[in-house]
Amino acid sequence: MVIQKRRKSWKLPGHASTSTAQPNIHGKNSCYLADVQTFKEGSGVSLTEGVASSTGPREDDVDLQLYRLDGKIQRQRDNKLCRHNSRGCCVHCSPLEPWDENYLKEHNIRHMSFHAYLRKLTANGAFISLDELSCRIKPGCKEHPPWPRGICSKCQPGAVTLNRQVYRHVDNVMFEDAHIVEHFLAYWRATGHQRIGYLYGQYEIHPDVPLGIRARVAAIYEPAQRSGRDEVQLQPDERETLVEKLASMLGLRRVGWLFTDLLSDDVTKGTVRQIRGVDTHFLSAQECIMAGHLQNEHPNACRCASSGYFGSKFVTVCVTGDSNRQVHMEGYQVSGQCQALVRDGCLLPTKDAPELGYIRDSSDAQYVPDVYYKKALLYTKISESPSERVSGKALQTPRLAPRRITVLYYKLWEVYIYPP
Ligand SMILES: [Zn+2]
Ligand SMILES: [Zn+2]
Repeated sequence: MVIQKRRKSWKLPGHASTSTAQPNIHGKNSCYLADVQTFKEGSGVSLTEGVASSTGPREDDVDLQLYRLDGKIQRQRDNKLCRHNSRGCCVHCSPLEPWDENYLKEHNIRHMSFHAYLRKLTANGAFISLDELSCRIKPGCKEHPPWPRGICSKCQPGAVTLNRQVYRHVDNVMFEDAHIVEHFLAYWRATGHQRIGYLYGQYEIHPDVPLGIRARVAAIYEPAQRSGRDEVQLQPDERETLVEKLASMLGLRRVGWLFTDLLSDDVTKGTVRQIRGVDTHFLSAQECIMAGHLQNEHPNACRCASSGYFGSKFVTVCVTGDSNRQVHMEGYQVSGQCQALVRDGCLLPTKDAPELGYIRDSSDAQYVPDVYYKKALLYTKISESPSERVSGKALQTPRLAPRRITVLYYKLWEVYIYPP
């Protein structure tokens, strides 16, 4: 059971550890907010104009390209079902919407793309305004003295119910060349120590997912770091400014980060142990927090967002052993809810169990809203104890238990090296 005790910390320079001993997601009463994002009508902007809005931050080129596409999934005439000639069109062959559930299921796409999601929200001509979740007290309330001496319904952040995010900001990650990955892994092969790298590249349209986006990686930069078998710590990095400058001259930007979690199995065969999976975890709470932090540093400019930004395109790639004991890459992003919990200092890692997250308790220094999760939306492979099946009660389980944090992140469709 040595493996399960392994934990890593992705400490940033100057960030103190915020671990707490007991995993705990607190809750008093089961009141829910149906959805975290609220959609206000009447103040939105058009999606179909392929031009950047004159106000607000500049959107990425890939977004501008996607706004110009009609996004419909074209279909061929169905020889069995269509009764018309080759120029006709019927319910069996008319184009599908980019969020079509059956199409996505047939193609093994578990989340619609972000742009398909925007189209779905605006399908009936509605204008939308996306708001990011906030877990902070609204500043400037005049009704009472400031927290902890007072709080009211006007300034109190609502309770949070964790939901599986239905869309992905980025669908795939593609490495342009196997060499850059091999070069990155060379450090682990030589030392047995784990490693972190930043991914430099571009975002582009991903043709295999309706209105999808792919992060195309051209280079990996390994920042200053101190590492061991179970731990990596980023160090202050003098070269960072220079690297950013060089990258931008090459038309590249930071599109994500990757880290190793590798343990040799048989050195002669080059196999590695499978450390992660449904029985342990895919991402640890610490990694979710690091991903959330980096996503917050790389906000996604979006014309539909009230603040001008919504979510992030920043990806997380984990290099670890798969069930065939081969070195394998998986891509992830954390949800907008997780980003907000990290930004507002509510989500903490736990000391002893990497797969458990902890929601900070309210203190004099900080009000923290209640956080719940909907059981029905959790990973289904978990074997649940009978007590957890009691309806209602389970929703208040005071713990963000093993599979529970899976609700904070989602897997990208694929990570692959070109040519696939
Ligand atoms: Zn037809
Ligand atoms: Zn107030």
